[in-house]
Amino acid sequence: MKGAAVPDNEVERLKSLRILEILDSVPEQAFDDLTLLAATLCDAPLSFVSLIDTDRQWFKSHFGTVLEQTARELAFCAHAILVPDQIMEVPDTAADERFADNPLVLEGPRIRFYAGAPLITEEGHALGTLCVLDQRPRRLEPRQRSALQALARQAAVQLKLRSMHRALQQALESARTYQHELEEYQSRLRHLNMQLHAQAITDPLTGLYNRLALTQQLNQAVARSQRAQEWLSLLLIDADHFKSLNDNFGHQVGDDALRQLAQIIRAAVRESDIVARYGGEEFVVILPATDGVGARALAERVRAEVQAARWGRHDLTISIGVATRAASHPRCTAELLIQDADFALYRAKNSGRNRVIAADPTAL
Ligand code: GH3
Ligand code: MG
Ligand code: MG
Repeated sequence: MKGAAVPDNEVERLKSLRILEILDSVPEQAFDDLTLLAATLCDAPLSFVSLIDTDRQWFKSHFGTVLEQTARELAFCAHAILVPDQIMEVPDTAADERFADNPLVLEGPRIRFYAGAPLITEEGHALGTLCVLDQRPRRLEPRQRSALQALARQAAVQLKLRSMHRALQQALESARTYQHELEEYQSRLRHLNMQLHAQAITDPLTGLYNRLALTQQLNQAVARSQRAQEWLSLLLIDADHFKSLNDNFGHQVGDDALRQLAQIIRAAVRESDIVARYGGEEFVVILPATDGVGARALAERVRAEVQAARWGRHDLTISIGVATRAASHPRCTAELLIQDADFALYRAKNSGRNRVIAADPTAL
């Protein structure tokens, strides 16, 4: 037996074969159809799509036998790929010194006839063959040779399509992964933005709205009250003698008192009322749809609750300036409401602290 020579382009040829990732893959109808057609057209009992690996031939499709692979040195196809552009026909293997003592000829399937058309890639690499085999010596008719050659070209196209399909699949997969990563990144970004926004409008000591948010909220409340033709009230709250509390008990105790005061105010007002830290020991409550009577009553309740609260080692009281505007009032702006409340607060301080004073008695 005379083993086949190794093709000159063996390294590149094997690389082309490996890229296809076809070796040891499951059977596919497209290739089984081609061996069926080849066997039928050539009137042969056996047909293979054979791929020549480093030291074996592996059958992508095997018609007429269950044989899945053989050693490369036994492969007729290993000879066929040496001349890629031709069909290799062996009319009688017993009369051919390359195959006469091949075990596939002497035993087992007792092959006497072989015709194989190489499967050629675009780069010109012969990866294997589409072949037909018979147990009697014979020749292909010219029409059968042409048919076998045509089917081999179809097999090569199938190989190409298969690898394009896989490449497309991989590209889709990585596009999906990329898309997924992008979405995760965007969602993290959105989350961060929300956190940043929350930070930007929150007073870190009390967790209430800060001055910036207060300005926005008050402008919106003014606009809403005018649209809805509703009253709008505002409380300006200032802790009494807070400087002495700091001086006597320390800044830390002062901070704790501010936190507790914020909680008391928040809990005392309605869910829809807006509470903000105006600055230092001063707070603002925006009271939508609330007239002067309602605002005063609420302010009085907050004042009483602060006075009655348990403050630990010290006491704490607050003074509150109340401002109210009817929607129909010709000068209802955020600035004027604050200004009115500030003036009322000033009066509350001057008249003894721990009290509520409304800015505009006519609004009550
Ligand atoms: P009044 O009754 O007239 O309002 O007297 P007051 O001492 O409360 O007013 P003043 O404006 O003289 O002092 C306010 C004090 O509030 C001074 C300042 O140190 C304190 N303060 C402002 N912000 C903070 C804070 O974040 N933490 C603490 N612990 N103290 C603060
Ligand atoms: Mg103050
Ligand atoms: Mg004060």
